Formats: sequence, structure tokens, C-alpha cells
Amino acid sequence: MITIALSKGRIFEETLPLLEAAGIKPLEDPETSRKLILGTNRPDVRLIIVRASDVPTYVQYGAADIGVAGKDVLNEHGGDGLYQPLDLNIAKCRMMVAVRSDFDYESAVKQGARIRVATKYVKTAREHFASKGVHVDLIKLYGSMELAPLVGLSDAIVDLVSSGATLKANNLVAVEEVSQISSRLVVNQASLKLKRSTIQPMLDAFAGAVK
Ligand code: ATP
Ligand code: MG
Repeated sequence: MITIALSKGRIFEETLPLLEAAGIKPLEDPETSRKLILGTNRPDVRLIIVRASDVPTYVQYGAADIGVAGKDVLNEHGGDGLYQPLDLNIAKCRMMVAVRSDFDYESAVKQGARIRVATKYVKTAREHFASKGVHVDLIKLYGSMELAPLVGLSDAIVDLVSSGATLKANNLVAVEEVSQISSRLVVNQASLKLKRSTIQPMLDAFAGAVK
């Protein structure tokens, strides 16, 4: 049995065509089913539906053989126990630093001020600002980061941006790119060794279907 961990929403939707290229079709839609384990047309392949940020954990411990996770999530997780053989080029966006439009980020950095940064991506943010030599106090949030600068919780946020519409609606501006984000295939290292004859053809099919 091969278990593939996916999150609902954009990752599931954008992974469907890749699964199909590997001859895998889910028997149910996770948006309408309450089941967390979904069968497929292939009796030897099942899907499990988990939180996006939990995908690497399921694969790391071998509860799933394969998963699809954003680079944002993978960087926070650290990647222990995971092979990352393929960038799937889906769920693309950018990790950005954003501030209130009346906050002068550049001069705060130039003056060497301590900047308060609210984010869900604490490890990513710490690494980013350390590499630039910018002093920050990090505040961990679990969502709606855009609110933090508006109510004085922080000077800046580190968050994913695609169209920028949410930033704009909240009077925030992106001032710095942290990294380009897309989703990667992750594979449990032991699974790849023990189940290579099943997994390798899947990886090849995914690779062939990546745009
Ligand atoms: P949860 O909703 O469970 O807290 P999440 O918000 O991270 O988790 P999704 O919104 O489904 O879950 O995002 C899954 C992945 O898709 C993210 O880890 C990221 O890599 C990518 N992603 C997030 N936002 C966008 C976006 N606006 N455009 C494109 N890709 C995105
Ligand atoms: Mg989300």
C-alpha cells in the first residue's frame, strides 16, 4: 500500500492532474467527504487528508510514503527524514516582508533599529533577518498576520503573498522578498528504499507531468 498525504484546497486541486498522470484517481472529493482516508482507483494507493503544515510530519514518520508540501511549510519543518526529489511548480506564491504603508522599513533597517515582526513562519523569518543582519523580535501568530501591524502588535509581518490584494485591502505594502514558494513532492526515505518498484514509476510520472 502506498499512502499519499495531501492538504485540502489548492494543493489537492493542483495535485489532481499530476496524480492522474500517474494513473491515480481519488474515489471521493475531500471538499465534500468527511473522510480523512480516501481510496483511489488503484487498490494499492490511498490518500490521506491532513493540514498543510502537517504533511511533512506524516511523511517523516512513515505514516505516509509520499506527500505534497509548500516550501514555506518544508522550511519550517526542517526536512528531517524527507527526500525532496521534485519541485511540482504548483501553489506558487512569494514569502514577503510587509509593513504598514506609513512605516519606513528601509530607514528602520539603516538605523539598526529592532523591528517587531509577527509571523506564522518563525524559523523562516529568523533565518531571513539573520542573513541580512537585521535585528528583529519575532512574534508567533497562527493566522491573519495582516492585522498585526494595524493594531500595533508588530512593525512588520512575514507572510505569503500572491496577488497582493489582501495586503492592499489592509493598507500594507510588501517591502522585501524572502523567497519564491511552490510545492514539492516529499518522500519518506525508508519508503523509497523498501517500495522503490512502486514509488519510482509514480515519481517519473509526476516529473513528466510537471509544467
Ligand atoms: P491551514 O489553512 O491549514 O492553516 P494553510 O493556510 O497553510 O494551512 P493552504 O492555504 O491550503 O493552507 O496553503 C497550502 C500551501 O499553498 C501553503 O503552504 C503555500 O505553500 C501555498 N499557498 C498559500 N497561500 C497561497 C496563495 N495565496 N497562492 C498560492 N499558493 C499559496
Ligand atoms: Mg491558507
